[in-house]
Amino acid sequence: MEMTNANSLTRESAIQTVHDEVMLNAAYIDGKWMTIEAPATDTADADSYDSNHDSSYDSNSGTIIATTRLCTKVQVELAVNAASAAYPSWSQTAVSKRASYLNAIAETMEQQFDKLVGLSVLNNGKPIEEAKIDVSDAIACYRYYANLITEQATWSEVSTSESSIRLLKTYAPVGICALIVPWNFPMVTTAWKLAPALAAGCTVLLKPSEVTLLPELMLGNILSAIKLPKGVVNILPGAAEVGAAMTCHPLIDKISFTGSNAVGEKVMSQAAKGIKDISLELGGKSAIVVCADADIDHACDLIIGGIFTNAGQICSATSRLLVHESIAQSLFDTLKVKTENLQIGDGFDTDTQMGPLVSEQQLNQVKKYFDIATAENLTCLTGGEVLNRQGYFAMPTIYTNVPVTSRLWTEEVFGPVLVSQTFTDHAEAIALANDSQFALAASIVSADETAAVEMALQIQAGHIWINEQQIVLPESGWGGFKQSGIGRELGVDGLSAYQKSKHVLFSH
Ligand code: NAD
Repeated sequence: MEMTNANSLTRESAIQTVHDEVMLNAAYIDGKWMTIEAPATDTADADSYDSNHDSSYDSNSGTIIATTRLCTKVQVELAVNAASAAYPSWSQTAVSKRASYLNAIAETMEQQFDKLVGLSVLNNGKPIEEAKIDVSDAIACYRYYANLITEQATWSEVSTSESSIRLLKTYAPVGICALIVPWNFPMVTTAWKLAPALAAGCTVLLKPSEVTLLPELMLGNILSAIKLPKGVVNILPGAAEVGAAMTCHPLIDKISFTGSNAVGEKVMSQAAKGIKDISLELGGKSAIVVCADADIDHACDLIIGGIFTNAGQICSATSRLLVHESIAQSLFDTLKVKTENLQIGDGFDTDTQMGPLVSEQQLNQVKKYFDIATAENLTCLTGGEVLNRQGYFAMPTIYTNVPVTSRLWTEEVFGPVLVSQTFTDHAEAIALANDSQFALAASIVSADETAAVEMALQIQAGHIWINEQQIVLPESGWGGFKQSGIGRELGVDGLSAYQKSKHVLFSH
């Protein structure tokens, strides 16, 4: 299917879409866009006015594209009421009907494919090809859950040891959900939560990241176009205040949060009040293990894809390289050349292989780790600096022989920064891979699939690639061990996150 029109993926057309179609001063509540009123000028002090506004930036230039108005607790209250009112009907809507809405979202996204890609490139800085993969993945996720929910049996018989008793099992939606997403995969992380929640029969308050509102707000137009019943999904552009109000609200039954560990801890304590169900998808410091028998050229491509895709702003970025000592020197020689040949630039330029970081804040975060690396006297194979140009660009960076005590080894940078170490045997590789507070993903590169699978079974991670990197299918569960989070998204587990089992017992 060819969805891309050659002239429609330009900065100018994306800015035109912002002007023509993105609702910059409104929240999508109860099936319509509601204007977010600014505080009255005669009573508002400067602080409250500022907290009600945010700017959306072009990551390539650092210039403001648009100013958005952010929600406050006022809109959270309206949205909770709308979601509560919609719940009895939506949770009882026939599964086939709910599935048809999910398919309609997918179809409308397909029709708007170029616009969604363009907004993602503009607001997030992604290269076009990466943004296309994102939008396609989001579409596939809506379709997957439309299909999965229709395959789920309404009732199943549970066999028991009591012959006079019948026990039936069914699934019910968990209730009214607060979905909170970060900025690194706009529309994708949203789909991972929204699609199973709607399939299960939940109603929803969705809070996109305030950093990437432009692509995310298009969802409101899509829901309006497909005539999703009012109140089923409410979209609240907002920052921490809105997220906190959602997670603390007594009428919210379930919170699904993707983001940093620092905010995840706050969300978890907010969820404790009222004993809310919770899923957390948090940080990572994933390893890529390159075995002695690996093809060096292919290994370098996988290493580069695993850390420089999305400029390293991926929770599952394989940011720790473990390479067998026997091939380390020749691997680093090839890796340095390939890394220095990467085309860095504007996401709208089709030659670009790595774009800017999303924001000035994220650029400063990466710069902080460059300074720590200097202070720790780490050996820099390549990079180690921000680029002296407009926009939020950092050089793709590799440090070698990094001690396991280094902050760059232990902490998530969330940027294009790879740290590496050598190992002598598989046992040492596994020990090094597991030496982290995080345990989200891993990659293994080896010519011996059997040995790689053996290794995969011993590495603590929720998702492990062998001779592949960063492919995530809707069918596979996603989530980590240790401090990478609680619960799973995607796959059958991702639907279970929005359902609770019910049992009905009777004698006969
Ligand atoms: P963040 O934690 O700063 O923000 C995430 C979301 O939480 C945003 O929408 C933000 O507005 C909201 N928020 C902030 N304070 C809140 C509060 N007190 N209560 C409720 N909500 C609040 O994260 P980020 O900087 O947007 O994203 C980067 C982080 O996300 C990284 O650490 C990355 O590893 C993680 N991440 C994890 C996964 C995964 O699947 N495990 C996926 C993507 C990103």
